[in-house]
This record gives sequence, C-alpha cells and structure tokens, in this order.
Amino acid sequence: MKGRKLLMIPGPIEFEPAVLRAMGEVTTSHVAPNFIESFGNALDLMQRLWLAPNGQPFIIAGSGTLAMDMAACNLVEEGENALVISTGYFGWRYRDILEAYGGNVTVLQAPIGETVPLEDIENELKNKQYKVVTMTHVDTSTGVFVDPQPIAALAQKHNALSILDGVCATIGEETKQEEWGIDVVLTGSQKAVGVPPGLALLVVSQKAMDTWRNRKTQVRSYYSDWKYWLPIMEAYQNRKPSYFGTPAVNLVRALEVSLEIINKEGIENRVASHKKYADAFRKAMSSIGLSIIPTSDGIAANTLSAVYYPEDVNGGDFLKYMKEYGVIVAGGLHPDIKTKYFRVGHMGTIHKGDVVTTISAIEYSLNKSGYKFENGKALATFQNEI
Ligand SMILES: *Cc1c(COP(=O)(O)O)cnc(C)c1O
Repeated sequence: MKGRKLLMIPGPIEFEPAVLRAMGEVTTSHVAPNFIESFGNALDLMQRLWLAPNGQPFIIAGSGTLAMDMAACNLVEEGENALVISTGYFGWRYRDILEAYGGNVTVLQAPIGETVPLEDIENELKNKQYKVVTMTHVDTSTGVFVDPQPIAALAQKHNALSILDGVCATIGEETKQEEWGIDVVLTGSQKAVGVPPGLALLVVSQKAMDTWRNRKTQVRSYYSDWKYWLPIMEAYQNRKPSYFGTPAVNLVRALEVSLEIINKEGIENRVASHKKYADAFRKAMSSIGLSIIPTSDGIAANTLSAVYYPEDVNGGDFLKYMKEYGVIVAGGLHPDIKTKYFRVGHMGTIHKGDVVTTISAIEYSLNKSGYKFENGKALATFQNEI
C-alpha cells in the first residue's frame, strides 16, 4: 500500500478492511440464498441502528442524493408546501429537488455557521400548512449540526412530516428516529455508515408510508417510486427472493458487514467515539489559533470539522502540502467562503493514529504556508484530550 494516502474528507472515508473484503467476494445472484439473507439482515440492522424498529427501511443503488430524491417525490405532491431549514449547500439541494417535483418551497436560511432559531420555524409552521419539513443533520459545507429532535416535534405538532438529511451524520450523530418522531432519516453508504459509495439508505415511519399510500396523484418519478421498491424490501426482510431492479449485490453485502461491526460496537458507543474525536480535534485546532465555522460548540458536528485558514495562508498551497504529507482533506464547499476554509472528515471507524497523522499534516502544511504558531501544540493538545 505504499503511496496510499489517508482519506480524511467528509465521504468517502477510510473503510474497514472487512468491509472492503466483502466488496471483493464472489458476486452471487441477487436471488441466491446467501444474498437474500445478507439483504434481509442489512434491512433489519438499519431498523435497529436507526432506532426505528417499526420504520420501513429501503436500500437502493444510488448515492445519498437519490435518498433525498425518494423522500421528496414520494411524500410531496405537486403544489404542496415544503419547508426547507437550510444551513448551507445541502439545504439548497433539497430546495431544488422539491421544486423539481412541483413542491411549493419555502427556505428558512441560517447565516453561515449558525442554525435557524426554533421560533422562526414555529412561526412559519403556524403561518402555513406544510406537507414536509426538511433539515440537514450536519451540513457538510459548514460542519454545522442541527438538533433534529425539537424540529421534528414542531413538525408533528403542526401536522407536517419531518425529513432528516443525515447523509453526513447518521451513525455518527445521535438519532432516535422513532422516539423523536422523525418521519424519514436518510443517508448514503459512503459517509458515517462506512461502505464505499453507491447505496441510498432510508428508514421511513409508518405514518409517512401511510401518507404516501393515500396520495392523490402519481409519483412523478419511475425509479424512485416506492410502489416498486416497497414489495422488494418486504420480500427480502421476510427472506424471500424478489426483483425490480438488480440490487448492488457486493455493496449490500459490504453494508451488512459494516452494520454488523457497528451493531457489535453499539450505536451509543459509536456516536460517543465520534464526539470524543471531534471535540479533541477542535481543541487541537483552537490551540494553534484556528477557528471553525460553527459559531458555538453546541452546533459543531461530530462527523466533520470545517476550519478557517489563518489569514495569509493560501488554501491551494495548504491542500497541496497536505497531500504531499499523505493526507487528503477537502477544500471549501460553501460558495461565499469557498477559498477561506478546509474540511476534515472524522467519521466511521476512527483510529487515533489517523487523527494524529492528520493533525501532524496540518501543522506541517501551516508551517510550510508561513503561519507562525507553536509547533507540536495541536498534536499535544489532541494527545492530552483523547
Ligand atoms: C454528501 C451529502 C449529500 C449527497 O450525497 P451524495 O452521496 O453525494 O449524493 C447530501 N446531503 C449531505 C448532508 C451530504 O453530506
């Protein structure tokens, strides 16, 4: 593996060797008994890890955006109102998706690094009857974390369905879907779930499934329509073969392996470990004078950190030095501040060594970029914290 770089971006992430080995297993038929068991088990594990034992799980070939698309086109009919609570880039994506299906979208936009106040959300929900409310658990463009619990409660109170875009959060941020009454929790395989890119994952409440069953109009998508996929998911969960579109056999098997690993560790432990690494990483950054985009610790994500460059550090050069050191981090994504910050994903099976290497690379790159600070301080801070 010489020359291999450490991948510390907000997905895809570093994957468990066992998960990668599963990708390399012989591809069997999608109706072979071993695959039926894997698919069924992966669906069962999703219900368990999403803390939604009565939810309807879906595993579909596609990226996280397909999961967003599915929730939108199945739950929102043309002309219905949708409220998007936006903390950045992926809020805008949800606006675009909902509009593509004829939704009448209102966006409540948070300033960069902040969240939308609950009072504003409540006022909006009082003001108009909304079909759905969407929120981004962690906006990957800012590293801002949104607490879904009070928003889901408000949606419920005002008779709207809640959709949580957990693509950069689910498994890494606490999510009690059923207890908190969130109607859809969706993600993609390549983020905190820890499987190479290619699977859209959703768990949908029975209330939302009933809403979909009672639609007045046809779903305006062919591939995303739950009418084709629901019988498939039900069949596999009952350990029966079925076919609509060929499932991504190797990815589904890899998903089963990853979810088993997470389940063995325990979802609470997995979330706690994300939090521990995130806190220690941020303390390390602030110890050398770097600040993060979220304006307070309470809204900083467990799964990634978005860090401003110090003044006079050129982002392009910094990223080049990082790469030279063997660590890949991501540049900015939010268009207003794109060149002013970088992003580090610290999700999945995180090892101390990976974060130590990343912090070491950051210190090296800052040094090379001419930034003056006490060399080694960030590393020492991390080591003391962890
Ligand atoms: C990555 C991401 C997406 C999009 O997922 P893709 O797999 O790239 O389609 C959506 N929402 C959030 C919050 C994300 O981080």
